[in-house]
Amino acid sequence: MLTFEHVTLGQRVLFGSGMAAENLASEVSRLGSRRVMVLASEFEAQIAAAVTAGIDVASFYDDVAPHVPVEKAEKARSAARELGIDLLVCVGGGSTTGLAKAIAMTTGLPIIAVPTTYAGSEATNVWGITEASRKSTGVDDRVLPVTVIYDAALTLSLPVDLSVASGLNALAHCVDSMWAPRADPINQALAAEGIRALNQGLPLIKDDPSPPRPGTGPVRGVPGCGRFCLRRLRNASQDLPCPGRHLQHAHAQTHATVLPYVLAFNAPHAPAAAARIAAAFGTNDASEGLNALREALEAPRALKDHGLLEANITEAAALILPAIPASNPRPVTAHSLERLLRDAYAGSDAGLHSPAL
Ligand code: NAD
Repeated sequence: MLTFEHVTLGQRVLFGSGMAAENLASEVSRLGSRRVMVLASEFEAQIAAAVTAGIDVASFYDDVAPHVPVEKAEKARSAARELGIDLLVCVGGGSTTGLAKAIAMTTGLPIIAVPTTYAGSEATNVWGITEASRKSTGVDDRVLPVTVIYDAALTLSLPVDLSVASGLNALAHCVDSMWAPRADPINQALAAEGIRALNQGLPLIKDDPSPPRPGTGPVRGVPGCGRFCLRRLRNASQDLPCPGRHLQHAHAQTHATVLPYVLAFNAPHAPAAAARIAAAFGTNDASEGLNALREALEAPRALKDHGLLEANITEAAALILPAIPASNPRPVTAHSLERLLRDAYAGSDAGLHSPAL
């Protein structure tokens, strides 16, 4: 008998290609905010300047770093307090959104998120902060952005390899959402749509990264992906594709690389989820669909190319193992996890066809 509890978090989502500045101005006015802090890294500053052209900005803040180091979080919180900020606007990838969340967590300030990658953090109430090289995450409704403004045009400056890695990271959230704890038919329907949109849209970017893009397929996938990620992470489930989180490696590339190994490992033990994934790819088999997409995208293949050292694999496995939810479709042992990471480290094709036992 099917039973589930599905909680939808309250958030306004505005979507419009080329409309970010207009949508942001109307949201700031709707919220009645007067002291706005705009967060954007130095690489995102140009986009942020354009997006915020129609609002009064009390402060532009660019001291953003991957995985939100605690010192940077505290410095940004102090700045927000000293400036009497009443609204945070983050324009950028998951790292920038993460800093806004770290401020909101202690100040309760509302966030408007304007994402420029496919990370999905904007749709979650999950925060992450790094201290002494280890990232902690938690759930707090105060960090959920009140509004998300999606604008496909803002992704046009992403280099193709980053679009591919970021898009596959979003895909990993969708795949994972098919079997994560508390997976339910509502999330699964959204996850399937996320897979379908990313599968259709990412090759368009790979083939022709120059604007204008014929479809905004990948970006259409983002709200769904974010919501899956939300449900997945809300349950504090750290799952198989998360070595980057523990070892501070490139997040999107790490997830993009590990995903096919995790899918090959879990799929035989989750036939209904695997069938849904395959259907979303339009293939008979889930791994076949994913591998065809990776082939078309020339996707990242081996963790050794993305910062993982062979000498650290055992440590990575030891950190990840206790965080894997008991509900993972296939029981995971230290041995099987280490073997999976070794396959992903090497980019082994064999590991895709006969996954770790
Ligand atoms: P990122 O934010 O670090 O961005 C990667 C790089 O791309 C940065 O140099 C950034 O400046 C640049 N960039 C961003 N947008 C650009 C654009 N449009 N054009 C050109 N360059 C651009 O990486 P990410 O993959 O977006 O986010 C990863 C982080 O997000 C990780 O820390 C991860 O843990 C976190 N995350 C959190 C959640 C959550 O729910 N809390 C969910 C997903 C990801």
